[in-house]
Amino acid sequence: MFPDKFSVKSLAAGANVKLLADQIEMFSPELAVVVDERRAVELKKILPPKTRVEIMSGEEGYRTAATLGSVDTVVSAMMGAAGLSPTLAAIEAGKNIALANKESIVMAGEIIVKKTDEKGINIVPIDSEHSAIFQCISGQRKEDVTGIFLTGSGGPFLNLPAGEFKGIKPADALAHPTWHMGRKISVDSATLMNKGLEVIEAEFFFRVPLNIIKVIIQPQSIIHSMVSFRDGTIIAQLGIPDMKGAIAYSISYPERLPLGQPIPDFINMGPLTFSDPDLNRFPCLSLAYEAGREGGTLPAVLNASNEIAVQAFLNNRIDFVKIPEIISNTMEFHSTVKNPDLSDIMEADTWAREYAENNIIGRNCS
Ligand code: MG
Repeated sequence: MFPDKFSVKSLAAGANVKLLADQIEMFSPELAVVVDERRAVELKKILPPKTRVEIMSGEEGYRTAATLGSVDTVVSAMMGAAGLSPTLAAIEAGKNIALANKESIVMAGEIIVKKTDEKGINIVPIDSEHSAIFQCISGQRKEDVTGIFLTGSGGPFLNLPAGEFKGIKPADALAHPTWHMGRKISVDSATLMNKGLEVIEAEFFFRVPLNIIKVIIQPQSIIHSMVSFRDGTIIAQLGIPDMKGAIAYSISYPERLPLGQPIPDFINMGPLTFSDPDLNRFPCLSLAYEAGREGGTLPAVLNASNEIAVQAFLNNRIDFVKIPEIISNTMEFHSTVKNPDLSDIMEADTWAREYAENNIIGRNCS
C-alpha cells in the first residue's frame, strides 16, 4: 500500500518466520529480525537463495532494527514488556515513533515522555482510542481540556452475570464481539485490563491528570473516544471499528491517506449506547487506576503481573477470576519506587513476574 510514500527498511518478527519470509519478499528490507537463533536458521532456509537481507535475532536485533540509519519512523508494535527496550533505543536514535505497544508507555511513561521531548521527535499513538484522543486534541490548547472520555466496547462479558465469571474459558475470552486481536490483548479486553492500561497510557501520552480520564462503555465501537473542553464543547472521533485508520494515520501524520474505508451507516445502525464500567465484575480496571494514581514502579508491576496471570489463564492454569487476584496480591506486596529510572522499572518488572508466578503456584499465598 502507498509504495510511493513508504518503504520498509527493517522488519522485526517473533516466531512466525513464514509470514516474515513473505513480507521480506514483498518489501525487500535491509534487515529482518526474529526472536531467537533457531528461528533465524529456519528463516534463512525458507528464503529464496538470492534474497539480499541481513538476518539478526533477539533483543540486540530488535534494537538494531529500531535504530537503522535509513529508518525515520519506527512502528513499535511488539507485544508486552519486550517492546520497551527497542522503543527507547528508537527514541534515543531520534526516530519518530508510531506506538502500538501500550505496555512500554505504561511501564516507563515518564521516561518515554521526557526522552521524546529531549529529542524533539513525534510520537503518534496507534491504539485506536489514543489515536482518537490525539486527533480530538490536535490544534487545541492543553489548558482548555477538562476531560477525556476513553470509550470501550466492554468486551465479550459485558452482560455476563457475576456468578458465571468463574466458568469462563480461554476460548470464551478470545471471542471478542467487535475487534479481532492477539490472544493477550483479547484477554485484556475481556477483563477490562486493556482499558486500564489505556487509562495509564492516556495519562502519559497526553500529560493530563488521571482523574480527568473517564472510561465509558460504548459497545458499538463507533465512537473511538472523546475530549471535553472548558467551554462545554466535546469533540469525538468516529469511524467503523477497524484498526486500518489508526495505523495509517500514525505513519502518515499529519496527512490523511485515501484508505477507502466505509462510513458508518448512521441511519440504519441502531442506537449508540453508553454505560459505566462495572468495577465489581471487572476489578482489573480499578487496579489500573490504583497503579496510575500511585505511579512510580507500580504501573510496571501491574503490567508484569497481568502478563503472567493472563498467560496462566490461557494455559488453563488459573480461573479467569484469579487474574485480578494475582495482580492485586502482587501490587500489594510491592514497595513502589518513586521517580524510577529504567533499571528500577526493569527490576520491578522482574520482581513482579516472579511474585505473580509464585502466587499462581501457591508458594506465597497470604
Ligand atoms: Mg485500544
